[in-house]
Amino acid sequence: MAEEAVTSSLFIGGAWTSASDGATREIINPYDQSVVRTVAEGGRTDAQAAVSAAREAFDGGEWPSWRARQRSELLHRVAEFLQRDRAEIARLETLDTGKTLTESGIDVDDVTEVFRYYANLAEADSGRLVDAGDPRVRSRVVYEPVGVCAMIAPWNYPLLQVSWKVAPALAAGNTMVIKPSEITPLTTIKMVELLQEAGAPAGVVNLVLGSGGTVGAALVESPQVDLVSFTGGLETGRTIMRSAADTVKRIALELGGKNPNIVFADAEFEAAIDYALTAVFFHAGQVCSAGTRLVVEDSLHDRFVDALVERAERIRLGNGMDEHTESGPLVSAEHRDKVESYVELGLREGARLVAGGKRPDDPELGDGFFYRPTVFVDCTRDMRIVQEETFGPILTVERFTEEEEAIELGNHTDYGLAGAVWTRDAGRAERVARRLRHGTVWINDFGPYLPQAEWGGFKRSGIGRELGYDGLAEYRQAKHIYENTAPEPQRWFAR
Ligand code: NDP
Repeated sequence: MAEEAVTSSLFIGGAWTSASDGATREIINPYDQSVVRTVAEGGRTDAQAAVSAAREAFDGGEWPSWRARQRSELLHRVAEFLQRDRAEIARLETLDTGKTLTESGIDVDDVTEVFRYYANLAEADSGRLVDAGDPRVRSRVVYEPVGVCAMIAPWNYPLLQVSWKVAPALAAGNTMVIKPSEITPLTTIKMVELLQEAGAPAGVVNLVLGSGGTVGAALVESPQVDLVSFTGGLETGRTIMRSAADTVKRIALELGGKNPNIVFADAEFEAAIDYALTAVFFHAGQVCSAGTRLVVEDSLHDRFVDALVERAERIRLGNGMDEHTESGPLVSAEHRDKVESYVELGLREGARLVAGGKRPDDPELGDGFFYRPTVFVDCTRDMRIVQEETFGPILTVERFTEEEEAIELGNHTDYGLAGAVWTRDAGRAERVARRLRHGTVWINDFGPYLPQAEWGGFKRSGIGRELGYDGLAEYRQAKHIYENTAPEPQRWFAR
């Protein structure tokens, strides 16, 4: 899209358009508060127009007759374009979110793999024959798209989170309205441009920017929407679930996490320290699966914490565009206020601050929403700082002595997104991994995910799965077709 047309950033029925009431929003670089771009700020009317366009494209037009092969080719083309425009997309993501350019580049590569994975899966598994136990009957189960999907995504991984929804939904043959976070829409706009270039028919993919309370709510309430796939916070998830009940929509919820990183005394020390740092401070802690709860064996605790703090203090904060920067700012002033209030809470609760706990002193960072990597020790399982998702660079440290206690601590949370266990004892690693009630468990690692492996939460971390085969299944529904090839009168009634 040309820069002069920046306010035409809604995509409805195959055309770029402004908000119906002309509203706009400035997108702010969290590094220095400069305006990166001005975009359209859609409202309810725009959301409804987009839903109608998606409905029309699902119920008629050319899309329903596209073969799986064509949908697969569309996704492969998007993957190709993502790589072609990798540098531009990474730059946009960094300007929008503050994350480092290296991280943004990795996001583009990961997303490319997700598109490739679902491109390949689009053609696989079109259904199955079922043995009805009667030679005259041909019974089969086929998979069909669910319909019009509302895709609502958060600000921390804008491109990645939206791709985890868009790629499988298109592979399955759905149409959609995408609503990114109002503060980080730039790479989603770019992705929709790529989908248009790749040949998605008009109305199949629609984009409405705007706030959650207006555009998001309108999508969830619309009787023309069949499915809502949401990634975001627990409270918003609850609101969406309640609201979707009125029209009995399908919902998929990827919510928060409070993820334990359990380290036994026999863990490989250097690697465990290194990963513990990355687990919590990567992207300034704004990661749903961040390892914000370090649970360390008592005998290792002091040595481990000392080494960790020493390295945490040396993390270089700065402009994500600068190759020397190790961590960027938080996404917004409001979010930094929230993180700061959690630090105050931790102190009131009696946790002991051993690193960070403040904004950086460097005047060069004064215009950005920076916060120092922060470590609290003497934490106990029921503290709110240990239980609630701060979504910032705050690590809490708890101690354990027995394996059983480590498992108990790891499961002592309403969330259940991810966790890790560090030990050289393979048997113990397996026992702990099996008993942790989290959707992903890493052994001697932290953070990786694969397009082929399901991602999602146990307990209050969500409903449904993204990625993997189940990530496609969310967007399909099974239909049983039962064919009697030699019908004869049944003579049940009025014989
Ligand atoms: P929010 O829940 O605030 O918002 C997520 C999205 O929902 C945004 O697009 C938001 O719009 C929209 N929204 C807000 N209110 C409504 C509503 N009433 N109806 C419909 N949509 C609405 O989350 P954040 O953006 O703050 O993202 C951080 C959260 O996301 C964290 O809790 C994190 O754990 C979670 N997350 C989970 C992941 C997972 O895989 N499980 C991955 C990444 C993040 P707007 O921004 O415009 O208000």
